Amino acid sequence: MEIKKNTFLISILWILLIAASFAWNHTQAHKEQEKLALHTTRNLFNYIIITRRWNAQHGGVYAPVTEKTLPNPYLQVPMREIKVNDSLTLTKLNPAYMTRQISEIAKAQADMQFHITSLQPIRPENKATEREEKVLKEFATGTKEIGFFIEDKGKTFFFYMAPLKTEKACLSCHDKQGYKEGDVIGGVSITLPSTEHPTFGILLLAHIGIALTGLLGIFVSGARLNRAYAIIKRQAIFDALTGIPNRLSFSEHIFKEFHRSNRAHEPLSVIMCDIDHFKAYNDTYGHVSGDNCLKQIAQTIKKSLVRPGDFCARYGGEEFVIILTDTSHNGAMYVAEKIRLNIIELQIIHEKSLPLQFVSLSLGVATSTDQPLSSHEELLRNADTALYLAKKNGRNRVESYTDILSSTQQG
Ligand code: GH3
Ligand code: MG
Ligand code: MG
Repeated sequence: MEIKKNTFLISILWILLIAASFAWNHTQAHKEQEKLALHTTRNLFNYIIITRRWNAQHGGVYAPVTEKTLPNPYLQVPMREIKVNDSLTLTKLNPAYMTRQISEIAKAQADMQFHITSLQPIRPENKATEREEKVLKEFATGTKEIGFFIEDKGKTFFFYMAPLKTEKACLSCHDKQGYKEGDVIGGVSITLPSTEHPTFGILLLAHIGIALTGLLGIFVSGARLNRAYAIIKRQAIFDALTGIPNRLSFSEHIFKEFHRSNRAHEPLSVIMCDIDHFKAYNDTYGHVSGDNCLKQIAQTIKKSLVRPGDFCARYGGEEFVIILTDTSHNGAMYVAEKIRLNIIELQIIHEKSLPLQFVSLSLGVATSTDQPLSSHEELLRNADTALYLAKKNGRNRVESYTDILSSTQQG
């Protein structure tokens, strides 16, 4: 029972340990993924800044006017368009316009979004979203960059944003808005699609695998331990040869029963039995036959006891002991006589056991009511004294300590 309980507790601890390991590994993997996404988006942002700087350093760059590159209505600068000839007009692309065009290519090719935004946009499309607005306000308080995972329409994205600072080259367009060099003019948000956490499934599977293997190990060793424990427990209680309880369990039993019957004011009887001329039996028929005889006698004694409280044990080599709870002298004499007769009825040939030439038992009976007793050992000693008398009076008989006492009193 204790082993089963411990196996259960160890299993629970094991599962908790694996769950903790999974949670820790998953958090670490998530952090790593976040770091990687932050690194990637930061590099993209820096790349955008470099291209913008390049553009601003040239005071904007010219590109042919096409359907996709129409003149920027928000760029109010001289020479915004230059007509080269009838088929070619060039228009100036400032950093914002250039970034927007790059962003469109990125979105079409890789589902990546760049958004130049500001709290005071010149172009209405550059108006900050609710999320961007919050981040832009944080930039005003000195935050250098922000990146986190977001969920949109069931997909996971990494959202990154860093501030755009006014550089010297920007002032030609933005000084009208009152910006000075170094001021946060706005920000660029980058939204990258993030694949489903790649390590999540692998981690989960690995942990389930480890957990199941561990549980199997715990249960297999638990079951083995349980079996070994049952065997050891059986060996500690039962006599290996005869299968009936051994002397150790008898000692525990008699101790408990002696005190219990004292408290309950019930008579307790003990019968000591010893096989007659058993040495001669062994010498005549050999030890194997002797062992078989012991087994038969033990089983016969056991079968002779019918009340649930009755208990028998192998006391020593060819000695057996019986405890009869709530049994008076007369009751114990009756049981002892029945056992003696049942052994005779086995008719185990023993030619050296005269005059019967069958294996027989001598029995000594003692009852707790015979005299005031201080311990169970005294009761056993009395039964032994009665057994000694049975041997002395010719064997194959029952004697009782009650009778010994009354005969000495009479004498
Ligand atoms: P008594 O009638 O006075 O009891 O004589 P006894 O020969 O039975 O008594 P004794 O004490 O001289 O001998 C007991 C014998 O029991 C000695 C030993 O050979 C035998 N014996 C004890 N344990 C075992 C056992 O486990 N197996 C076998 N085969 N014999 C055993
Ligand atoms: Mg003996
Ligand atoms: Mg004997």
